[in-house]
Amino acid sequence: MSHSLVTMSYIVATILFIFSLSGLSNQETARKGNYYGMLGMAIAIIATALSASVTSYTILIVALLIGGAIGARAALKVEMTQMPELVAIMHSLVGMAAVLVGYANFMDSSLSLSGVEKTIHEVEIYIGILIGAVTFSGSVIAFCKLSERISGKPMLIPGRHWFNLGLLIASIVLGWMFLQETETGGGSIPLWIMTGIALVFGIHMVMAIGGADMPVVVSMLNSYSGWAAAATGFMLSNDLLIVTGALVGSSGAILSYIMCRAMNRNFISVIAGGFGTSGGEAAVVEGEVTPINADETAQLLLDAKNIMIIPGYGMAVAQAQHTVNEITKLLRDKGKKVGFGIHPVAGRMPGHMNVLLAEAKVPYDIVYEMDEINEDWGHVDVSIVIGANDIVNPSALDDPNSPIAGMPVLECWKGETTIVLKRSMASGYAGVGNPLFVLENTRMLFGDANATMQAVLKALKG
Ligand code: NDP
Repeated sequence: MSHSLVTMSYIVATILFIFSLSGLSNQETARKGNYYGMLGMAIAIIATALSASVTSYTILIVALLIGGAIGARAALKVEMTQMPELVAIMHSLVGMAAVLVGYANFMDSSLSLSGVEKTIHEVEIYIGILIGAVTFSGSVIAFCKLSERISGKPMLIPGRHWFNLGLLIASIVLGWMFLQETETGGGSIPLWIMTGIALVFGIHMVMAIGGADMPVVVSMLNSYSGWAAAATGFMLSNDLLIVTGALVGSSGAILSYIMCRAMNRNFISVIAGGFGTSGGEAAVVEGEVTPINADETAQLLLDAKNIMIIPGYGMAVAQAQHTVNEITKLLRDKGKKVGFGIHPVAGRMPGHMNVLLAEAKVPYDIVYEMDEINEDWGHVDVSIVIGANDIVNPSALDDPNSPIAGMPVLECWKGETTIVLKRSMASGYAGVGNPLFVLENTRMLFGDANATMQAVLKALKG
């Protein structure tokens, strides 16, 4: 394929990626957005494969087959609840690719650059490996935390900010040494040491963040993976990779900002780690819970006019979204007003609940963002909390010592009755007790959310 045709294809792919991002920003257009992204990626891969820069089709085909097989297997096998872990581990691969491409470029003796061009290329290599290594080790730790292979709690070492500052200064000094040594054909020692430092920094950064702040880590690593891809693009002089990486990097950064705003967190404080852990002990929840059964729940729903459903991580675990949709249809057919209240960090990844509800074909126009409904709880007769915990925890608002203090939550307790579906009195992701469960107007419906919702559906059908 000629160079100009490859460039044309890259431009078309870039436009499709931009359409894809814009489509993904809204539930109704998300499917279309995905198709644009897939088409853009197909064009990008075909154009790259047919370009003159490919020297060995054997290596390319073997790599495509191995990568494609691993990707297809992972996508087929992964449970919806494991999606965030899958995303985290995929980010680590982007980071690793940037490191490997960086080293391959560094060792490539066929490049005959000189003067400023050579220096720029070396800076690209150094920064690419730095971002790639941070992304790689940080994503591996995020994967381990999200899959509960290691504790989700923030690990705070004494003087951690000084430690981070030390690593940053060491990386800058090593960068300068690297540029000096490459003049005489060396540079590998500072590069290796910096890679080690960047790996330690990635581990330390994510280990220090935990509990309810993890959503920011996921979106932040998403952003880093974009910048790592852009750095790879610079090293390979591939414009499409630069643009795509920048799109992912900046959209991930915007998402991190949105998540921080939604959680009332300061972005820098979250990155520095240990946010909200310096206060005293969070209030211990005391009081009696009032259990309820499926028949009583059905009766409360039949007596209500205005019903709000709040889905959380437990709905994803129980895969209860289809039963919830059936109940919604039945109640709406009976003339009830039913809505869904979505907290921005519900579940384990941004948009988790929206994806589940869309999969179950819940109409988009009854799905509300937290800000749209948090003023209206006074009009709600019954709210059903399905496997949610942290996002409906009143202590976030009234206990300054709580690790989630300051995080806006869905204030369902201001409605007439709240029914909470969960299996036990266990805490949620942030590991905080929830006073909602012992409030006078709260009823606890214990059991797996899908089983209890099925029982409620049966009782509603009479
Ligand atoms: P939580 O993790 O706070 O609570 C989920 C609740 O679901 C648990 O209390 C659990 O209680 C219950 N549950 C689990 N399985 C079932 C089941 N099969 N049937 C019924 N209930 C079940 O989830 P939320 O959605 O309220 O909050 C999300 C949390 O995750 C926040 O702290 C957020 O910061 C964090 N997070 C969010 C990310 C994101 O991007 N959205 C990413 C990473 C973390 P029990 O065991 O008693 O059943």
